[in-house]
Amino acid sequence: MDGLVEKCDICIIGASIAGNYLGYLLYHSNLNIIIIEEHKNVGLPFQCAGIVSKKLSKLINLPENIILNRVKIAKLVSPSNKSLRLYGNEEPFIVDRIALDQLFYKKLEKSSNVKYLLGEKFKSFQYKKKRKNKKEIEIQTSKRKIVSKLLIGCDGPFSSVGKHVGVNNKVIYATQIRIKGLFNEQEAVMHFDNKWNDLFGWIVPEGNKIFRVGLACSKNIKENFNNFLKRINIDFNKKIDQQGGIIPVGMMNKVSYDNVMLIGDSACQVKATTGGGIIMLLIASKYAANCIIKCFKSNNFSKKYIKKNYEKPCFREIGKELKTHYLIRNLLKYFKNQDFDEFFTIIENSDIKNIISFYGDMDFPKKLLFKLLKNPYVFRFLLKFFIKKPKFLLKSIFLLK
Ligand SMILES: Cc1cc2nc3c(=O)[nH]c(=O)nc-3n(C[C@H](O)[C@H](O)[C@H](O)COP(=O)(O)OP(=O)(O)OC[C@H]3O[C@@H](n4cnc5c(N)ncnc54)[C@H](O)[C@@H]3O)c2cc1C
Repeated sequence: MDGLVEKCDICIIGASIAGNYLGYLLYHSNLNIIIIEEHKNVGLPFQCAGIVSKKLSKLINLPENIILNRVKIAKLVSPSNKSLRLYGNEEPFIVDRIALDQLFYKKLEKSSNVKYLLGEKFKSFQYKKKRKNKKEIEIQTSKRKIVSKLLIGCDGPFSSVGKHVGVNNKVIYATQIRIKGLFNEQEAVMHFDNKWNDLFGWIVPEGNKIFRVGLACSKNIKENFNNFLKRINIDFNKKIDQQGGIIPVGMMNKVSYDNVMLIGDSACQVKATTGGGIIMLLIASKYAANCIIKCFKSNNFSKKYIKKNYEKPCFREIGKELKTHYLIRNLLKYFKNQDFDEFFTIIENSDIKNIISFYGDMDFPKKLLFKLLKNPYVFRFLLKFFIKKPKFLLKSIFLLK
């Protein structure tokens, strides 16, 4: 294949949810799109707990077969096994993630202006100067060269496109098994512990008495996962199958560069409280698609233009909320094991449960956080963290601005 050069308007790297959805949003534009995916099959390997808020059905036209279950209760479990059940209007979906990744791929695979190159890897890119300071991108894949006006990195947490523009995501490691079990099929459970304080251990009911049981943390993932399974009395050897994966941690990165954009996990558009990225990347993709159409209409692919039309509006909607998630995650890291018990008791014995039910939002927590901070019990409880960690207080004020 050496020497093969293709031309396109937009080259998207990664045919997972972000890349496929962006392709779908753009295919009506008649721009020529190439989507490159290093795996031969879209949606595989499956690496997800698949819990997504009901906003999903507002953002996309969601076929019923993608929803495997819905949960009514979020159960939080402290290291000493004290639990807190939260009910709300959220009732998130448990999705068939493979089907979700394939949903837009199936709509696009036969379209005349979108071409998938599966089993092919993006390697590098360089700018090619054109007239009047205009640039194009020359992309090198494992099989060919592609010349494109825009390059979009939808290539996940370890984004190679991102690395080329100087983005290196901080990540945590996740492992998950699917298992038949006797847990409650209406509850999504989160187990907190100091040993895995980058996130939590989870039990997510897939339906038909199958549960997705996983854990994510920055180190000792195997040992922590085994301890977690022991704690919840699960025999690893009885698993149906096992998944692994990487979750980026932080707030939204810079996502605009000359002729280049980042979306989804590559852009760290992921909630630091839960590791969930699907809702955020769908919202980001809409802003990105809108910006791309404008770029072609005005023949302007500059960083400044992309920043104005993608990064800024996207930040206004999801960036601030991602900062709030990050702040909450950092606060939880300061919790000692007994702090979880104390916090759960405060929530149980006051009207905070009602506030959470009313204002709780899996994706947009800022409103709830402000409501909670106004509650004297919560405020007094949190004060000790701010007094002990004045730098954290300053950072929080900066993040919540
Ligand atoms: C264990 C686990 C559980 C999770 N649970 C949830 C959850 O319950 N709810 C939720 O909302 N989110 C969850 N997430 C996060 C969610 O899966 C991600 O936010 C989402 O998959 C990001 O989509 P993406 O398209 O940006 O990137 P990815 O899904 O990571 O896809 C990137 C794609 O790019 C391809 N690629 C990478 N490099 C190259 C290259 N050089 N050349 C060509 N192709 C390349 C990859 O093969 C992949 O197909 C979970 C993640 C993990 C790991």
